Amino acid sequence: MKFVVKLSKEEQFAEENPLLGRRKVLQDGQTVEYPVLLRDPITPEERRIVREAWKNNIDTVRRRLAKKDCTRCHGKGSFDVHDYPGHPLWHKLTSSEICGCFLED
Ligand SMILES: [Zn+2]
Repeated sequence: MKFVVKLSKEEQFAEENPLLGRRKVLQDGQTVEYPVLLRDPITPEERRIVREAWKNNIDTVRRRLAKKDCTRCHGKGSFDVHDYPGHPLWHKLTSSEICGCFLED
């Protein structure tokens, strides 16, 4: 009997579309391979893979890892905070904060 694993729509997509590719770059006469992110990670497992592969330069993939349904950054990876809320002159001043959702599964 064949055991059929039913995949969710997301898992099915993840199965058919590779997450990582490789890019070869010639550096000081040597060929160095870099991982390339071909699409945004979807499943928690893929998010872990991407974080591991880019752990030394996570900033380059932070936006890709931001959760699309995040209530703070809405998938942008950062959000604006008002520095002086309610201040008559400076209430419009904002600064950009990095959203922590890219570290979540
Ligand atoms: Zn977020």
